[in-house]
Amino acid sequence: NLKTNLEMAAKDEVGSLAAAITDLGRELEEYRTNRREFFANISHELRTPISYIKGYSKVLRDGLVQNEEEKNQYLRIIEEESARLTALINDLFELAKMEEGKLELHFEWLDVEDILNSAVKKVSLKASEKKIDVLLRPSADDPLLYTDGVRLEQILMNLIENAIRYSEPESTVEMYTKVEKHYIHLFIQDFGMGIPDEDAPYIFDRFYRVEKSRSRASGGTGLGLAIVKNLVELLGGDIELKSTSDKGTIFKLSFPIDKKGSVDG
Ligand code: ADP
Repeated sequence: NLKTNLEMAAKDEVGSLAAAITDLGRELEEYRTNRREFFANISHELRTPISYIKGYSKVLRDGLVQNEEEKNQYLRIIEEESARLTALINDLFELAKMEEGKLELHFEWLDVEDILNSAVKKVSLKASEKKIDVLLRPSADDPLLYTDGVRLEQILMNLIENAIRYSEPESTVEMYTKVEKHYIHLFIQDFGMGIPDEDAPYIFDRFYRVEKSRSRASGGTGLGLAIVKNLVELLGGDIELKSTSDKGTIFKLSFPIDKKGSVDG
């Protein structure tokens, strides 16, 4: 009896070891596939602007374009595509630094309203170009937050820029806060095109776009939300797509407020 018990236990051990190895293999395979996909994405994203730049500079150099207006149009495309390359390379570096835990953060006690104000001021040019009003409605009892102000501002700017990018001209973007027992929630709401339900689970993924051409045309790199999510987590918070429909989108950020311990132990 003891012998059969031992044999059975041994069989169980072997069984769970085999299962663990299978899981590990699956994880490794998934990691490899993700990596492969990521690099395929990067090279595609880099190749596209380069091919535009090459194509249009050749057209210009071959002297095929006489018309000044057309010339300027091609030069503008070359300029925009170069800017896109720079943005892409910057975003990739930033993401790599974050994932290696090499992003330097500077935590201090800060007034949330100040950071919101500063973010809104920085996007005001982009907003005015589309005649979009960015309204700020902080709550009266906003507490101080132990955070990295530069990074929090970057997060907010990214979300507001998206809100502007994916809204019609002359609409509004609203930002408001809510204080709950141990948390402060920051909401960024727009009244734009929204995000289809079937895309919602993937929008924080690197290079995921709902509509490739539209994002491209508006200058997006497809890395914005991936960077935002990483940064929010580094600051000890959480981000969720709160609601979305064809009437607009709300992103919700949550940060613990009761103590700085939640961030740096
Ligand atoms: P991008 O550089 O393309 O804007 P992001 O990572 O910032 O990349 O966003 C990923 C995708 O999520 C976008 O391409 C867009 O389709 C969608 N998206 C993000 N924010 C919004 C928003 N406020 N309204 C509608 N769609 C959005």
